[in-house]
Amino acid sequence: MTTVNAPKINEYKEATRVERVGAQSHIRGLGLDGDLEPRNISQGMVGQKKARKAAGIILNTIRAGKIAGRSILIAGQPGTGKTAIAMGIAKALGNDIPFTAMAGSEIFSLQMSKTESLTQAFRRSIGVRIKEETEIVEGEVVEIEIDKSATSGAKTGKITLKTTEMETIYDLGAKMIESITKEKISSGDVITIDKVSGRISKLGRSFAKASEFDALGPQTRHVQCPEGEIEKRKEVVHTVTLHEIDVINSRQKGFLDLFSGDTGEIDPEIRDQIDSKVAEWKEEGKADIVPGVLFIDEVHMLDIECFSFLNRALESDKAPIVILATNRGITNIRGTTYKGPHGLPIDLLDRCLIIQTEPYNEAEIRSILEIRCEEEDVEMTEEAKEVLTKIGVDTTLRYSIQLITTANLVAQKRKSNEVDVEDVRRVYSMFIDHVRSTQYLRDHQAEYMF
Ligand code: ATP
Repeated sequence: MTTVNAPKINEYKEATRVERVGAQSHIRGLGLDGDLEPRNISQGMVGQKKARKAAGIILNTIRAGKIAGRSILIAGQPGTGKTAIAMGIAKALGNDIPFTAMAGSEIFSLQMSKTESLTQAFRRSIGVRIKEETEIVEGEVVEIEIDKSATSGAKTGKITLKTTEMETIYDLGAKMIESITKEKISSGDVITIDKVSGRISKLGRSFAKASEFDALGPQTRHVQCPEGEIEKRKEVVHTVTLHEIDVINSRQKGFLDLFSGDTGEIDPEIRDQIDSKVAEWKEEGKADIVPGVLFIDEVHMLDIECFSFLNRALESDKAPIVILATNRGITNIRGTTYKGPHGLPIDLLDRCLIIQTEPYNEAEIRSILEIRCEEEDVEMTEEAKEVLTKIGVDTTLRYSIQLITTANLVAQKRKSNEVDVEDVRRVYSMFIDHVRSTQYLRDHQAEYMF
């Protein structure tokens, strides 16, 4: 019998976080008020009120942490915000509750069986909140290198934190910025790093004057925390996932596999040992199980074996909340010759609470486009927004969102900082939407290969 180890911070710390302006980067939550009522426009979310309210109820259920193994299906036409809602739930949950997102097609890999892929996804979505006795080292030397843009409200940057024991470089994303802003940390401050959660926080007072470190260059500060001044913490709690414990205990490389993502298949025996160890920790009051969320987008890409696996896995008392999303109507159930609503078998569908998303009206499309312009730092005239909204109504929301960046590039080329109608028209004729592309194919079918 091997000894089951809980991961320590130095073993598995997430070293680099890269957050780019992605399709969902403007979503910061579900935009609900204290009574779970959706605000019209809030936290990057617009309209889709019924679905957001339903998602809010699910969110509360997840937060309560008492219910495992529920499945929710978000169903609706393409581009109606299904992924946005799932992202809103993830953002609202924060870092302490695991949230795993995957696309149905990801389970088809040569390295791993489909069921192993799903098992790993399930175990990535179950947190183990471990309580540990630890203390922060006194006299720790901390070097902070903060890209100046980080403290002046910019959206990207870098922060390097060095202690005697570790060096971590974070690409600054919204979360780090938030943490820095919340704690009001800037160059020259004395900070502590919680070695378990990796969180940084500022000590109540500053021991070092920024001017003492000017010799090191404007962006670098060495900070010596004097002995005895740092508050000791006796009990710290950190949350890891069952999958992380599996990996650390199953491979020779241990935690390094977590970085490479190449975990391979995990021996079921190891999982059994870990499950009993975690149950033991729970019994002794050393750990709690935190059911998180597994989000499977494009769930219609799974096949009948996976659906059967899901049915069974959801029965387990250690199952996460599983959120599925699909834009399919009544269509083929993969791996069978049958059709099912959303491409799903009825028995799985019957287990799901279904949230329906609906197409957006013109005002909502305009609001989403305005939020995206802000997110992408694009200035646009009112007239251009009107034209882009019309394009969104006539084609798709996604296509019109894509034209924002391209129109901005065209505007920049003519040395303007503001996108105008001519730029939008230009990119509209340069990049065609799927309806025009299909029409072109119909008109020129004979010239293409069969
Ligand atoms: P598909 O079925 O094609 O996967 P989807 O329903 O998952 O589509 P999303 O990807 O969530 O659609 O939405 C398309 C784009 O529109 C994304 O950039 C998303 O953030 C944005 N969007 C959709 N709905 C909203 C909303 N209610 N508020 C703000 N942004 C939204």
